[in-house]
Amino acid sequence: MNLYELNQLAIQFRLDIGINLNDPIDFFPVITNKIKNLTIVFLDMPEDISGACNIINSQKIMFINSYHSKGRQTFTAAHEIFHLFYEKPIFTICNVNSDDEIEKRANQFASFLLLPTGALYNYKKENNIIKWDLNSIIDCEQYFQISHEALLYRLMFHDEITKDEFNSFKPKIKYHAIRRGYGLSLYEPYIDKNYTIGNYARLVEKAFERDLISNGKREEYLLQSYLQDLVYNLEEL
Ligand SMILES: [Zn+2]
Repeated sequence: MNLYELNQLAIQFRLDIGINLNDPIDFFPVITNKIKNLTIVFLDMPEDISGACNIINSQKIMFINSYHSKGRQTFTAAHEIFHLFYEKPIFTICNVNSDDEIEKRANQFASFLLLPTGALYNYKKENNIIKWDLNSIIDCEQYFQISHEALLYRLMFHDEITKDEFNSFKPKIKYHAIRRGYGLSLYEPYIDKNYTIGNYARLVEKAFERDLISNGKREEYLLQSYLQDLVYNLEEL
């Protein structure tokens, strides 16, 4: 699959879940809403593992490193979508810097999914960007909620910035974002602990409501997936 085909695949995926090509995506709520059989587990993982995925009984499951920034977690989720939707359903672990061809392809797909090429050039035109600088780059990554590093790679990929510019724009992003009036949410984890969102809780609650499992079993399943809030903290929710 070449880069043009990967971009087309990402565009088609956006259209299939009803997201316009030029719009930013609030990624986790949107995929949790649109992909009904998807469960996302945030997990304490080593720094160099970005995520993993598997398909069990037609349920799509992705694991995301709970230490990474929201930008990185979003990119990982988009990367796992490539494995879950366009490859054979086998358990896959994804390293941060892998040279594996499939991993590189999943990264390209993720980049195109979060920021279609047309959307990038549209944004550039609408904002009268002649030459990318740190101001326009931070504005753009905040608008599309894409990680700083992913946007820099993407701009270098399109020859919009040089390797030297990449290196000079990369460091101290939190400092540069705060100075430009942005909050830090993109650069800190979306969920920073072991936690599960998506279809799993819906399946457990449905099974309990239909008397297919006892309350003891329900609690066991919820605790196994780090949803202790639903077992112990109901008063506070
Ligand atoms: Zn992967």
